[in-house]
Amino acid sequence: MILPIREYPDPVLRQPARAVATVDEAVRSLSANMLETMYAARGIGLAAPQVGHGLRIICVDISAESNQGQVLVNPRILRKEGVLEGEEGCLSVPGLFEMVRRAAWIEIQALNDQGEPFIAEAEGLLAVCIQHELDHLEGVLFIDRLSELRRQRLKKQLLAARSGGQDEKARSSPRGASRRAPIVQNSLHVTQGQSH
Ligand SMILES: [Zn+2]
Repeated sequence: MILPIREYPDPVLRQPARAVATVDEAVRSLSANMLETMYAARGIGLAAPQVGHGLRIICVDISAESNQGQVLVNPRILRKEGVLEGEEGCLSVPGLFEMVRRAAWIEIQALNDQGEPFIAEAEGLLAVCIQHELDHLEGVLFIDRLSELRRQRLKKQLLAARSGGQDEKARSSPRGASRRAPIVQNSLHVTQGQSH
């Protein structure tokens, strides 16, 4: 089942998610729906708060074929290394892409959708994607990671677009529609940033 994706400034996106106590049928069902929703929106990652559930569940799939969907329950970063700067977007902040700095490599611990614990490494786009989704579990959006000046400008733009006729215009025009359709959670153009 495809779930409605909550968009900025929906307050649910700002609430820290709580840990999943038991990976049961309800969690598996939500995870399956999250994957379906992510694929339908052409995203490469989705966190439960984005579909209105304050639970620590994320799903990711950066494969071109969209056939390597993974669910991570109660994910946690154990180690991280390096710096990677890449352009990111978010299904909850449609149409906006900004450069964000993340760790280039991470080691994570999580439960799979059967409730089994595992430890995995991720690098490049997958590492970026997981870090982006983990932020959602803390109520953090990628726009929070931009400079103060850039963030204030964007906030005004986003809120203006939402409140005025500008939004309707964008939606009804072919340009608005096509711009909205191919959004991916994180851009594929991730480049190696400078370590510091
Ligand atoms: Zn996002």
